[in-house]
Amino acid sequence: MAKQIVILGAGESGVGAAVLARKNGYEVFVSDIGTINPEYKKALSDYKLDWEEGCHSGNKLLSASLVVKSPGIPDTAPIVKSLSESGIPIISEIEFAGRYTDAVKICVTGSNGKTTTSMLIWHILNNAGVNVGLAGNIGRSFAWMVAEEDYDHYVVEISSFQLDGMFDFRADIAIMMNITPDHLDRYQNDFTQYKNSKFRILQNMRPVDHFIYFQDDEVITSELSVISPKVNMYPFGYSGPYLQGAWVEQEEIRVLINNNSFNMSLFDLYMQGKHNAYNSMAAGIASRVLEIRKETIRESLTDFHGVEHRLEPVIQVHGIEFLNDSKATNVNSTWYALETMKDKVVWIAGGVDKGNDYSMLLPLVAEKVSAIVCLGKDNSKIHDAFDEIVETIVDAEEMSEAVRMAYYLSQKGTQVLLSPACASFDLFENYEDRGRQFKECVRHL
Ligand code: ADP
Repeated sequence: MAKQIVILGAGESGVGAAVLARKNGYEVFVSDIGTINPEYKKALSDYKLDWEEGCHSGNKLLSASLVVKSPGIPDTAPIVKSLSESGIPIISEIEFAGRYTDAVKICVTGSNGKTTTSMLIWHILNNAGVNVGLAGNIGRSFAWMVAEEDYDHYVVEISSFQLDGMFDFRADIAIMMNITPDHLDRYQNDFTQYKNSKFRILQNMRPVDHFIYFQDDEVITSELSVISPKVNMYPFGYSGPYLQGAWVEQEEIRVLINNNSFNMSLFDLYMQGKHNAYNSMAAGIASRVLEIRKETIRESLTDFHGVEHRLEPVIQVHGIEFLNDSKATNVNSTWYALETMKDKVVWIAGGVDKGNDYSMLLPLVAEKVSAIVCLGKDNSKIHDAFDEIVETIVDAEEMSEAVRMAYYLSQKGTQVLLSPACASFDLFENYEDRGRQFKECVRHL
């Protein structure tokens, strides 16, 4: 009899895992406690997969020999608890997919910059003619791509929720962008648990594999000094030079690997801002490890235009520049956005606070922000943090009102930044919806 696999959650990763499982001879059952999106229902029926929605039928699920859990489902969900009490192995979709491909895996994790860096690496490798897929949190799931495509390299964006269900998976090249507080609601408000989850990326890596990490991040470096992983190590940061790795010197990025160096002016990077220098350094190291030609890397870093909703320039209205950084859902990413701004910014912030500590923003806000427009159901924490240092703080209840207020509070030559530092679910479907509404309202000014 075919082995039975249960897939919990029928989103992009769950349906991808189901398709891959079917191709590999499993008897598949997909269970989602919510409503399954029609596009995914169609895929399930195209592949003749068995599914349920709106419930989890305990008995059917408990007969599984393996469970693939979607990253959005917490370990505390009752069904996950009872499956794990029954001793059924529960893994993540990336772990499952990793079992069915021999491709070289370049894996990007961290709190911020994963999508940008993954797309940048994919862009460089693709320009170099490498047969490379881009998977994970971006677009199609890794499992779905492994099931239907035949790439020999993958750039995989990996969240901590995926890492929690990873055991035997091995990255050939792993990149750790940074570790700052985020998603702590899923880690019992324990930063150490969140950090440990990120470091699972190193498990199973061999001495011939490559680990690229952010040297200016104390959380990362202090953990590395404890665990001393036996892999090729490449730091990146502003604190170089390093024996090998990447750093900034005289307004240039320098990548040094095996005594071979690659230099590029920071001004030639299309994506500006310190955080994008970090992302470019990480991508530069990964590309040089894979021996991509320097010219291709240079051209690709020059023409990569960034990713929607990540410090994305919208338009100028009467000399006021509007920037959409809706993907900034935590304090650290907003710090980098404000750091990149000129002075006299009108900052639109707020949403669902995930236990934010705004103190790291105080100096930048005092220096650069002329007014704050709060856009959330509960704006009390933003008022508490900034009322003393910013003269004008107003509240808006919807995006059109926020954009109009920001516009009236600005002057020619200044900037309006949407960088909420919060999740979006109080007023919007998700951060994409929030960013799109922002752009729409700006265009209607
Ligand atoms: P992730 O996929 O990790 O959420 P994104 O590339 O989608 O990362 O960027 C999320 C937010 O973080 C955006 O606001 C972006 O401008 C900002 N950001 C991008 N790279 C970095 C970085 N290296 N450090 C801090 N913030 C960053």
